[in-house]
Amino acid sequence: MARTKKSKTANKSDRILKFQGKQTTFDIFGSKWKLIVCDAITEEDRKDEYFDYGITDGENRVIGVSVKNKKGNDLPSNEIEISILHELIHSILRTGQYINTNNDEPMVEFLARSLYSLIKQGII
Ligand SMILES: [Zn+2]
Repeated sequence: MARTKKSKTANKSDRILKFQGKQTTFDIFGSKWKLIVCDAITEEDRKDEYFDYGITDGENRVIGVSVKNKKGNDLPSNEIEISILHELIHSILRTGQYINTNNDEPMVEFLARSLYSLIKQGII
């Protein structure tokens, strides 16, 4: 049987699925997503310049968030929570009519930090 070339997105998703950690599923406007909070990231991910502490794979609807930095040390809990919010905002933007704003990283990060602040103040 001939080997088929995998797409970049599929490879990224495969990597996320290898992560050890807590998995949660959620729904956004009828789309099922999986959130994986990882205990560790792979050596391959540590070398990936695009992997900060989270990945959103919109095609496969999978989010991976690491609890450790690229050196393998624990991240502060506030940074983990902001990373989760950041990737959730990506998933929201990818699901609806604002998909064209999904690559606006400063905006996504600004919204994540704003929501984090409101959550910590008990507003939401
Ligand atoms: Zn991002």
